Parts: sequence; structure tokens; C-alpha cells
Amino acid sequence: MIKSTPLLNKSIRSQFFKMLLFLVVSFLIIIAAFLVVVNASQNALQQKREQMYEKSMLVDELEENFNGIFFRARGYYAFQNEQELKLLYENLENFEVLLQKFSQLDLTEEERGLYNELVDFHYNYKTVTLPKGLSFAKMGDYEALRELSNSGANDLVNKFIAYTKSYKKKTDHSLNQIFSKTVEQGQLFTFISLMISGLILLFVGVILRRVLNNMIRPIEQLTLATNALASGKSIDLGNLVQKEDELGILANSFLKMILSIQDKEEVLTTQNEELLAQQDELQENQLQLQNSLNYLEKYNQLNHVLTFTLNKQKLIDNLHNYLNDIYQYDTSVLYWMEGNVYATKGLSHQSAAALVENFDMDKQARLKQEKSFVITRQLTANEKGIAQESYYAYDLYSSVFNSKRELVAILMATREGHPHNDRDIDSLNGLLNRVSIAFERILMYEEVEKSRTLNQTIIDNVNEGIQLVSATGDTVLINRALCGIVNLLNLTTETSIPKKDWLQHFQKCSAQPDELIEFLEASIMESFEETRKCRYCMTAEHEIFVEVYATCLFDGQEKVGTIFVHRDITREYEVDQMKSELVSTVSHELRTPLSSVLGFTELLLTKNIKPERQNKYIDTIHREAVRLTNLINDFLDLQRMESGKQQYNMETLQLNEIAFEIVNRFRHEQKHNVHLIDKAREVYVNADQDRLVQLFINLIGNAIKFSPQGGDVEILLENKNNSIQVSIKDEGIGISKQDIAQLFQKFKRIDNSLRRKIGGTGLGLSICREIILKHEGEIWIESEEGQGTTVYFTLPLANNTITFDEEDVMEDSNGLNIMLVEDDLSLALLLSEELKSKGFTVIHHHDPKKAFEDTLNTPLLGIVIDIMLGEEMSGWDLVRALREREHTKEIPIIISSALDEVKEMVDQFQIKKYLTKPYPPEEISKLFVK
Ligand code: ADP
Repeated sequence: MIKSTPLLNKSIRSQFFKMLLFLVVSFLIIIAAFLVVVNASQNALQQKREQMYEKSMLVDELEENFNGIFFRARGYYAFQNEQELKLLYENLENFEVLLQKFSQLDLTEEERGLYNELVDFHYNYKTVTLPKGLSFAKMGDYEALRELSNSGANDLVNKFIAYTKSYKKKTDHSLNQIFSKTVEQGQLFTFISLMISGLILLFVGVILRRVLNNMIRPIEQLTLATNALASGKSIDLGNLVQKEDELGILANSFLKMILSIQDKEEVLTTQNEELLAQQDELQENQLQLQNSLNYLEKYNQLNHVLTFTLNKQKLIDNLHNYLNDIYQYDTSVLYWMEGNVYATKGLSHQSAAALVENFDMDKQARLKQEKSFVITRQLTANEKGIAQESYYAYDLYSSVFNSKRELVAILMATREGHPHNDRDIDSLNGLLNRVSIAFERILMYEEVEKSRTLNQTIIDNVNEGIQLVSATGDTVLINRALCGIVNLLNLTTETSIPKKDWLQHFQKCSAQPDELIEFLEASIMESFEETRKCRYCMTAEHEIFVEVYATCLFDGQEKVGTIFVHRDITREYEVDQMKSELVSTVSHELRTPLSSVLGFTELLLTKNIKPERQNKYIDTIHREAVRLTNLINDFLDLQRMESGKQQYNMETLQLNEIAFEIVNRFRHEQKHNVHLIDKAREVYVNADQDRLVQLFINLIGNAIKFSPQGGDVEILLENKNNSIQVSIKDEGIGISKQDIAQLFQKFKRIDNSLRRKIGGTGLGLSICREIILKHEGEIWIESEEGQGTTVYFTLPLANNTITFDEEDVMEDSNGLNIMLVEDDLSLALLLSEELKSKGFTVIHHHDPKKAFEDTLNTPLLGIVIDIMLGEEMSGWDLVRALREREHTKEIPIIISSALDEVKEMVDQFQIKKYLTKPYPPEEISKLFVK
């Protein structure tokens, strides 16, 4: 903070104030006095002028009234006009008022005399002269009036008029005098003002001079001194330092400051010199440090490589580069014999390779004795190049030994004209000693890696899934088998799998996650000697049953991890399942018939039973024994088929013939209408007849068995591609979608109350599948619960060169259905063959009732009916029924019978043709036009 300087007696500020005060006060007094004088004289002159003017005006008015009085009086006297008289009196009164005013003015002696005369006149005229005149006028005595006017009134009037004229003159004169006096005074005042202004200028000049001398000059002096100081010249402040004001103080302080600066400058110059010297020293140190830092950095990089790299070539390259950086070789080779890698500088690839391959044995021997040695030789002509004078080359050979004192690497380095000093060689030897450790580390790592890969290969080729888990629960190793079993592929990475992740995966994919996770967690956390195991089921893609064994890994007493071995036991599990299903089926299916056999035979043995009852019992025993035999046969068949021991007697067969024959077997079914639709043009297959019969019986038997309410069972033969497709369609209880896939497994039966009542072994479909596979066909099921079932199978055609255009077949056969109602199997087959050969589709029925029902479902081109069909309904009954029903009354009917034609019937029912057996089959096909 800057302290304000105490006010000095002779300070610039006080001097300036004093001067300014004196100047202002003097001028104020002079101007005030001047103004007062000017004002007073102006006022006096003004007053005088106004009075003069007022008197002159009054005199003028008096004169005017005075004239008016006489003028009005004479007017009245002459004409006695009353108006004139009135005006006369007004003039008199005005005259009196004006006289009054005149008397109040400052009057001279002369004016006072005039006034007195005028007062007298007024009084006489008003009181004496005017009344007399008026009475004379009234009397008309003009003579007396003339006398009255001559009696002296006229003298007064003239005297007054003369006076006023001279008075005006005087007044004008006086006014002129006053005006010229005012002008004179004005000039005087202007002169005085100019004088005062001159005085002010003089004073200002004096003050400015003092300011110049006392302030501006010293400041200039100080500025010059400052400039001189800045440019290093000598300073002269003159008598400025003797001054007692602020500038004097400033100059003194400035002087002191200069002295102290000069003092300090000397000190600073000395210090500066010292600092410069230190700076030079520091720069030199810095340079040295920078160099060492560079070396250190390179050394550090090399160290890093030596410690961490597992790549032989990279190690050799880095080491070689480092050596060249430090020792500046002209040519060099660093060769690691064990690793069979090398790095070179200044040599072609071929010469380097030749050098390391044929390394001089003597030098090798020398290196085993001496760690490093140098050979000095004269440069060859090649090496010298364009150089004129001869140089020396210094070849350095240095070695690296392993821990067994075997030579493992060699450095060959040449410097041209620049020898290797002892210090360099010592430090190089130290470095190469260290390098041997890195070499050994890499070789060791390769060994370890080799055995690790071997272990991993072994582990990967084990069928069981192996999982090694660390003490914290992270998976550190898994084999390929485990990935397959538990579908861990999406989690496998190079690094370990965190505990949270793999447990989450197991939890997501397992069917019993809680139990499994509890087992895994406990195995990771707890320490135990024995091997624990647990079973679980993976449901990720398909069901896999797994048994997992957990064993702890110990390092001394401390648990370091856990090994889990996951074993895929799906096959065993399925076998187990099958076994238990077999046991339950066999026990049920064996026990039931056996108990009836036992029960009835006991009854027969112990009791005396009526013969007809005995027969019934024996019949039941026989039926149950057959059932048992079927079961055992089924079981044995399947066993034989599965073990490949089943003999197949393959021959070319007509599939529709077999189908006809089987359908015929089921003709007596009460609740079911088993019928065949034959749309297949090609029916020859290579097959074992017995097995095909077994196949049909199983499938048609199932269709009947699983439609307890009865219904149609339709067997349809069609050609598809190069095969024949058979479908067995029922209207039974059907199968739910999820069960269909499992039905071809052995002993597989759907477990629900409806089916439990229906017996079975669960072997039928398995046998069918085995048969179909053996015949290179396919088998599948289409069904919906409660909607009936269709089982399909295909068999390749015997002559597989024939190909079918499916659309063609569809188009051809559409609406070309001919129903054949014939109970003679061979004739039905014969007619069917004939019709099919002409491109018709044949629907075969042996039961006229079922045929009649079926006519409603299928559009027909015609019906071929046999007359002798059965007891219940004859051929003619069927014809009648067809003709009576609206829907079928127009269908063309052909009778095919062994009986003779009955003309009336033929006419009555409009029979298209009556064919008497035997007749050539073409007869039939001729009757239908496509
Ligand atoms: P089984 O008939 O002796 O039980 P199968 O192997 O022939 O044995 O059939 C296995 C199961 O498939 C049967 O128990 C039944 O539940 C079902 N099945 C087979 N065919 C049909 C069908 N046509 N309709 C309904 N379910 C059927």
C-alpha cells in the first residue's frame, strides 16, 4: 500500500492552492466592486431620465387639457352645446388631477412657480371666470363675454403655452445630456474590464511560469535521469535534490534507489556468472544422463524380451540388435546352436548360413576354454572397398554356455579399424551369461508345452468329460468330451471360465438344477478324501443322462482344486429304463394269462365241472396260452432281429396280394370295417412274405385294438416315387404329438387309463420298424389325440427303374374309382389287377353292408357286385339299397356272379351288365370308359 506523503509547508499542492486562492479572491473583490459602481451610476442616470421623461409627459398633458378647457368654453359660448360643457368640466377635472401629479414630482424653483400660477388659474377659472362666462353666454351677452376673455385669461394661456414649449426644449436637452453621459460611462467600464482581463492574464502567466519552474522542469530532469539510468549513462539531478517539495523527495529517493540498484547489480552479476558456470556443468551431466537413460531403456527392453519372450527367433533378433546398438559392429552373427536360429548384420543370408553351418571347430574348441577372444587381422581387399590405406579388422568371438557348461550360442562380430576394448568385452561377457538363462527358459517352456499338449491330447481323447476347477471355483481346464456332453462350446475360451458362468450354464441346461448346483458348490467348497458322485440330466439340445464324480486335489494338506469327471450314461440309463419297462410289461403280460391258465386248470383238476363249462374253460386256457406264446414270440422275434440273427427270405412279391389276403383275414371283425383301396399301379416288391404279413397284422391289429368304439380301418396302397406307400388309417383314440416319436422304442406304451385296459407288450411297432429297416423302407405315424391314427410305411419297388409322375397318377386316378364287392379273394385280385392296368382305382369290399356305407364317402365310376356274398345281405340286397338311395341310385352297377342272369332283376335295377362267372377279366374293364 502506498502511504500518502504528509502535507509539507512548501509542498507543490499547498503552493498551488495558495496561489489559486489568492487569485480567485482578488478577482472576486475587483469584479464585485466594479459591478457595484457600474450598477449605481447606471441606476442614477436611469432615474434621472425617467423623471425627466415623466415631467415632460405631464407638461404635455397639462398643455393639452389647458387648450381643451378654452376650446370647450369657447364652443359652449358660441353654440351653448351642453355636450361641450360636459367635456369642459371633464377637462377641468383632469387638469386638476394632472396638477396634483405634477406637484408630487421633484420640481425646480421655476417649475414650482409655474405650478402655483396654474393652481391659481384653475381656481379662478372654476370659481369665477367660468360661472361668469356661463351666465353671459346664457344671457347672450357676447360683449361681456369678450371682455371677460380679454380680462387677462388669454395672457395666462399664452404664457403657459410659451412655457411648455421652452420646457420641452430644456427637457430634450437634459435627456440628450443624460444619454451621452451613459455612453461615456459605458466606454469607461469597457476599458476597466479590459484592464481587469489583462491583469488576470498577467497573474495566470506568473502562475504558469512558477508551475513550469517548480514542477515541469524537475519532472523533465527526473525523466532524463531515468532514461540515462536505463541506458546505463551517468545521472545528473542538479539542485533538484535540494528542493523541499515532493519532487525533491522524489529525486532523493530516486538517487538512493539508483545507488542501491547499482549495489545489487554488482551482486547479481557475480551470482549470474556463478549460475552460468553451474548451468554448463548441469548440461554436461544431463547429456551423460540422457545417454545412460537411452542405454538403460534399451537394456530394459532387452531384459523384458529375455524374461518374457517364448519365441527363439525374437529373442535372438532382439539380443543381436541390442549388441549392435551398444558396440557398433560392422558385421556380426549371433547363432544359437540348440535353438538352430541366428541373426546377422552386414552379411547375406547365404554367407551367414554357410558361416553358422561350417563354424570352425578350432575356434569352437578355443571358445570352450576362453569365453571371448579377439583376432586382429588386416582387412581383405573386398572388405577395404574404396579405402586407400590399409586397416585392421578386429574379429571378436564370444560364447554362451548353459548350466552344464556346454556351448550353446556363439557371437561373431567384426569391427573395422576400431578395436574392442577390455571394458566392452567384460560387459559383453556379463550380458551373455545372463542370456544363457533365457535360452534355457525357452527350451524348458517348449518341453513343458510339449508335455502339456500331450496331456491335453490324452485328456481330449478320454470319453469322459474332465473338468478341473480351481479353489475359487473357476474352471481352468476342460476337455473336448465335456464340451460335447454338457454343450459348453459357447463358453470355452483360452482363459478360464469364471465359476458364476459355468454354474449358470449347468443350471440353465440341467433338468434338476437345484440338486446339481448344490452338489457342485459343495464339492468346490468342501474338502473330502473320497470320490463323490451325482446324476443329472442335460436338456440343452437332446436329453443326455450324466453321472458326475468329484475328487479333491490336494497340495500337501491344502485343497487346491476339484476334478469333476462327467460320464455320459444315457445308453446305460436307457437300458435301465428298458429293463424296468420290460420287467413291468413282462410281469403284467405274463402274469395275467398265467393266472387264468393256472386258475382254470386248478378248477378243472380239483372240481367236477360240467362238460360244456369244461370246454369253455379249456378254450380260455388255450386263448391265454396263445397270448403267452405271441408275447414270447414277439420278444424272441425282436431279439433275433436286433441281433441280426433273423433270416429274411427275400423274393419278389405282389404287395396288393398280401394286403388283400390280410384284409380278408379281418373280414369277420364286428365293429370295424377293414377295407382296402388299391391305387398302386406298380406293386412288386422284394420282401420276405412272412415278415410283411407280420407287419400288416401288427399294424391292422393296432388300428383295431386302439379304436375300441369301432370305425373304418382303411388300407391304402399308392405309388410314391420309386416305392409303394401303404397307409393304415383308423378312427380310434389317436396319439398325442409328443408321444409319437417314442413309440418305436421297445416296450414303449403310452400310459393312460384308456390304454391300460387294452393289452399289449409295446413290442409291435419296434418289430415293424426292424422289418421296414431291413426292407430299406421308412415307417412313420401321423396322429392326433381323439382323431384317429394313420401309420405309413414305404417299400422300394422291385423294379426301381419305373418312375412315377405323382401328379399324373393323382390326376389319372381322380374320379376313376371302381368299387369291387367280392368275397372271393383270387377273383377280386384278378379283377383288381385288370382294372388297375387300365388306370382305374379299385376299392375292394367283401362285406356288402360296409360297401354300401362306403359308397357315400367316395365318388364312384361304377360298382362290380357278386350276388352270393353272405347270409346277412346278398348282392341283390345291396343293389336294391343302392337304387333306393338318392345319392347312389344312378351309379352304374355290374353284376359278377356264378348264378344265371335273372332278367327281371336286371331290368328292374337297370344293371349295366350281368357277367356270369367265369368270364375274361377284360370284359369288366371294357365296360368303363375313362
Ligand atoms: P402294443 O400294441 O403291444 O402296446 P405297439 O408297439 O404295437 O405295442 O404299440 C405301442 C403303443 O403305441 C401302443 O401301446 C399304443 O399306445 C400306441 N399305438 C400303436 N398303434 C396305435 C393306433 N393305431 N392308435 C393308437 N395308438 C396306437
